[in-house]
Amino acid sequence: MKKYKICVIEGDGVGKEVIPETVRVLKNLGDFQFIKEYAGYECFKKYGDAIPSKTVETAKECDAILFGAVTTPKPHELEGKVYRSPILTLRRELDLYANIRPISNFRDIDFVIIRENTEGLYVGREYYNPCTEEAVAERVISKKGCYRVVKFAFEYALKHHRKKVTCVHKANVLRVTDGLFLKIFYQVSEEYKEYNIEVNDYLVDTTAMYIVKNPKIFDVIVTTNLFGDILSDEASGLIGGLGLAPSANIGDRYGLFEPVHGSAPDIAGKGIANPLATILSGAMMLYYLGMKKESKILRMAVKSVVEKGYTTPDLGGNLKTREVTDKVIEEVKKYS
Ligand code: ATP
Ligand code: MG
Repeated sequence: MKKYKICVIEGDGVGKEVIPETVRVLKNLGDFQFIKEYAGYECFKKYGDAIPSKTVETAKECDAILFGAVTTPKPHELEGKVYRSPILTLRRELDLYANIRPISNFRDIDFVIIRENTEGLYVGREYYNPCTEEAVAERVISKKGCYRVVKFAFEYALKHHRKKVTCVHKANVLRVTDGLFLKIFYQVSEEYKEYNIEVNDYLVDTTAMYIVKNPKIFDVIVTTNLFGDILSDEASGLIGGLGLAPSANIGDRYGLFEPVHGSAPDIAGKGIANPLATILSGAMMLYYLGMKKESKILRMAVKSVVEKGYTTPDLGGNLKTREVTDKVIEEVKKYS
């Protein structure tokens, strides 16, 4: 088997705890070359740069990127200096347009949110007009942006044997922007007619309600940037919080895998961060690299660790980060 090159960026806070643990697990599943690079607020303080160009270069040379978490400093800590989050830089530089967030508790809840990752309200076009005393944010929805993320969602559904794709929008109010997203959604769905994938659409507010009330109606959700951000955090509440929520950022050429959670400064350094969100992101990376068997073994290993109650305090257990990882590795060895 090919020896894959993995760019490893720990970042800040608990990123420095959960990433090494995930690397330790991955070493039991394949022969990888791990290349460590730097990014984040600590990197910024040390080198004056939140993401040195060498980090981006290495990321582009590798087969996949494993990313921990980075701290966003408070404005007063910056003393007027400009800090742009490295993850936003990477998403842009590598054109990682689809953000995939599977929501699964390994039992009855199992759906995936695919969020457009490059445009919408996140383009950073905000201004204040003192004449009219209006603050304005521009929401950019391009044809190309809609097409590629919707297409990605259908391809994802096919590959993962999913049966339904739901478009989530607010086209009744945002007639032009979400109108375009919705129109392209149904256009693309025509290309997938022969596969018998059910398609439908919901308003974002209705979706927020159903995620709490009846999440089983969802299979694959595809939506714009801000809605996807909010709904996926809401949905992670269904599966016991951020400690179990993995994610992938995918483009046509690169894939970056990271836990949904941030650097969790409140628990950093205590050895109690839940490593499972990052380990599950590692499983998504294995799948992306074509190591389907290994990916499945890793997911099964995490499932049995959770079922047996070998968890950190956030999931009600009393194990340390390291001990949970040891349990995962034990299970991996059983299945391999
Ligand atoms: P950032 O600014 O880096 O996004 P944050 O505080 O906004 O940090 P998170 O880091 O996602 O957001 O943390 C939110 C809450 O979830 C915190 O209370 C944190 O302790 C908890 N949390 C996050 N990640 C984990 C983890 N891996 N294990 C246990 N608890 C976690
Ligand atoms: Mg956060």
